[in-house]
Amino acid sequence: MREVITAKSAGFCFGVKRAVDMVYDEAGKDNRVFTLGPIIHNEQVVKDLEKKGVKVLHSVNDIDEGANTTVIIRSHGVSEEIVKKLEEKNVNIIDATCPFVSKIHKIVKKESQEGRTVVIVGSDNHPEVEGIKGWCVNKPVVLESIEEAEKFTPDSEKKLCVVSQTTFNYKKFKDIVDILSKKSYDIDVMNTICNATEERQTEAGTIARQSDAMLVIGGKHSSNTQKLYEICRKECENTYFIQTLDDLDLKQFQSFRSVGITAGASTPNNIIKEVQSYVRNE
Ligand code: SF4
Repeated sequence: MREVITAKSAGFCFGVKRAVDMVYDEAGKDNRVFTLGPIIHNEQVVKDLEKKGVKVLHSVNDIDEGANTTVIIRSHGVSEEIVKKLEEKNVNIIDATCPFVSKIHKIVKKESQEGRTVVIVGSDNHPEVEGIKGWCVNKPVVLESIEEAEKFTPDSEKKLCVVSQTTFNYKKFKDIVDILSKKSYDIDVMNTICNATEERQTEAGTIARQSDAMLVIGGKHSSNTQKLYEICRKECENTYFIQTLDDLDLKQFQSFRSVGITAGASTPNNIIKEVQSYVRNE
């Protein structure tokens, strides 16, 4: 039997567990239930919810008005404009925005109202960043890379407020902040990277360093799983990104004596357990 180390921080974080639980709670009720976008980046969970009658909406404009309709905002959060549109539609709104993301919404709203330019360190097209942008009262700037930070020229008249997408890599955030600090005369930095992400990333790197092979489990569209993969790949060249046990090519594993396992924030525990027991006993 080979040695298998599974990260303690693998899988659902507090915010995702809270959001998924909220949807399952609503699924059994009489109302028509919709989530605004898939509740998490995990096809299995989304399909299971579909079977229970929960439909995924891709735009707030697709919702009819109606008192017997429930719309759930996912943990990534949405812009203030979308919240207002939902309120106008007279639907029952369940806000499953992670409290850590809601905190960023409050920060950027306040700081932009006070005249600061908000810099969001993150991926411009990520739904969480889209939502954060939508709470700024003036136009924010999104920076994802060192190159973008180097090219960025702040308005010397304006103060900056820097926040981060919760799932952003901590080291990269620090590097971008260092570059910005050299450019702006007044910069307010709020490290809004969630501890769950930081802990998961650190633990994944540590396990990958001491393993012959590393498995990173998560949805193929999940950015936090993608980042975990990058971190592990730097520490262990035999790192594999899988969605479920079906993606695992066990022939590749014959020669590995120790295997590490981690998983993104949207990976259900049953999938992690299934991979773990299979790899251990194979
Ligand atoms: S990673 Fe952190 S901020 Fe994001 S949903 Fe989970 S607990 Fe919330």
